[in-house]
Amino acid sequence: MILTLKRGVSKSEIRRVEKKIKSFGFRAHISRGAKDTTIGVIGENAILLREFFESDPAVRSIAQISKPYKLASRQIQSKDSVINIDGVKIGGKNFVIIAGPCSVESRPQLLAIARKAKKHGAKILRGGAFKPRTSPYSFQGLGAEGLKYLLEAKKITGLKIVTEVMEISQIELVDKYADMFQIGARNMQNFNLLKEIGKSRKPVLLKRGMSATVTELLMAAEYIMSGGNKNVVLCERGIRTFSQETRFTLDISAVSVLKKETHLPVIVDPSHSTGNRDYVPSMAYAAVAAGADGIIVEIHTDPLNALSDAAQTIDIPTFSAMAKKIGEIAKIFGKKI
Ligand code: PEP
Ligand code: MN
Repeated sequence: MILTLKRGVSKSEIRRVEKKIKSFGFRAHISRGAKDTTIGVIGENAILLREFFESDPAVRSIAQISKPYKLASRQIQSKDSVINIDGVKIGGKNFVIIAGPCSVESRPQLLAIARKAKKHGAKILRGGAFKPRTSPYSFQGLGAEGLKYLLEAKKITGLKIVTEVMEISQIELVDKYADMFQIGARNMQNFNLLKEIGKSRKPVLLKRGMSATVTELLMAAEYIMSGGNKNVVLCERGIRTFSQETRFTLDISAVSVLKKETHLPVIVDPSHSTGNRDYVPSMAYAAVAAGADGIIVEIHTDPLNALSDAAQTIDIPTFSAMAKKIGEIAKIFGKKI
């Protein structure tokens, strides 16, 4: 349920309404727009509280949130959320490039790539230390050692760090090194992991499951947000379809759908969605035009010998040219990198 408050209502009145909501055991989500202040009443069957607010002197109108996702929905907050990753902002007028190797492979590998990522316009460095590999015989990541290299790369370049956390037991360790948790596609519906991440206040990059609907992605975000962590960035990374020519199918229309449905920032992964380096730049450009707030892309100084996802990893000259073009396209759409 959403309460739209009367124009010019005082701060103490807002606090009173908030207290009243909480006294019923519900949560209050206050959103101050240019004209109106609204308060989302969050909890099961919140609409049953309607009668207690109908004649409240601070309340102008009451509406029901029709979507199953409440905190993530545009209904509760019409203006875009801007998520602050230790000083780097995702959302609003910013187009953020997150770049780095699929996996942290070694100290020299990561530092070399990080320097190039920074030089050509990335603001955040990606790199998996804990890797969810399809085959148990594939490289599984360096684990804790990889996290140390990520932190060193941050100190040298100033890039912020995003890295995947695969299970609850890794949260504490990853929290010490990363500026942003990544929840991978395979874990999008690991509800216990989402709940635990919801207890943190650290930003989260939530990737869409390869067989998940947009609504399911938003419900996964809702799990994190309902735990108190509102700092969620969504990522479209390709879904399974009958098409075999690319690794997954980039659901570019999901960006438009998400932009309509949620105030959370949305980024696109042109690497995992295509699985083929030849298609990465064009999908990145499409992401900008679709209204995305950034991309996460796999780059390498020696892509052919990358220990994971080599086929979709672009080299540095390609990244440099692509980042330049992204900057130009972003301008047309009123954003800047
Ligand atoms: C990744 O970004 O490293 C990754 C494994 O992606 P996804 O979870 O989207 O497959
Ligand atoms: Mn990868």
